[in-house]
Amino acid sequence: MTDIAGNLRYLKSRIPTSVKLVAVSKTKPVMDILAAYNTGQRCFGENRVQEILNKKDLLPNDIEWHLIGHLQGNKVKEIVPVISMIQSVDSFKVLSTINSEALKSKRVTDCLLQIHIANEETKSGFNLKELSEVVESPGFNSLKNVRVCGVMGMATYTSDLEQIRKEFAYLSECYKVLKNNYFTGSHHFKEISMGMSGDYEIAIKEGSTMIRVGSLIFGERNKT
Ligand SMILES: *Cc1c(COP(=O)(O)O)cnc(C)c1O
Repeated sequence: MTDIAGNLRYLKSRIPTSVKLVAVSKTKPVMDILAAYNTGQRCFGENRVQEILNKKDLLPNDIEWHLIGHLQGNKVKEIVPVISMIQSVDSFKVLSTINSEALKSKRVTDCLLQIHIANEETKSGFNLKELSEVVESPGFNSLKNVRVCGVMGMATYTSDLEQIRKEFAYLSECYKVLKNNYFTGSHHFKEISMGMSGDYEIAIKEGSTMIRVGSLIFGERNKT
């Protein structure tokens, strides 16, 4: 059995209190989430809308759910009423759909802009040029029901630590460029979500404010 409480204690002893821990519980049963919850963990990340919807009704309602996987337009309506943060915004279209649904349910939804930092085609996200176009587009400022809180990124899956470090440094740089050029007046725009089980220490050194850790807490996932 995985010692979830022990793993969390160990992990928390290694990260500064200023860095927020998102416990990534995808594919794991609600019992495992509850074990983490009972140690005081309140923030959980999932990559599928349906999995959040299934799990949340079986768990305490003070859990803060973060969506960290690609969001399809037709799923926005279901997720907006229950989500604390959507970390995986990867198009203007989905951002504006989130805005309309948030407006309907009288909410303001926290979002992160996902930036493509890996040299793998499979990881989605904007590049810096696309992002500048989005935030400069006339429609962007009319999105009153989304709150853009920062950026998110995933490094290449590699054992080359220097490459991972460079990719995180690049994400930090993107954050700074966006902050200085477009979000100086926004005290909400302050998050850099980067770092997973294998690379959270590098991420923290490169300025991460939020790490998303799964297997180090809950054990390896079954390959699906
Ligand atoms: C699965 C996943 C994680 C956590 O991965 P681990 O290696 O298990 O810590 C973090 N971020 C995203 C976007 C994920 O999909």
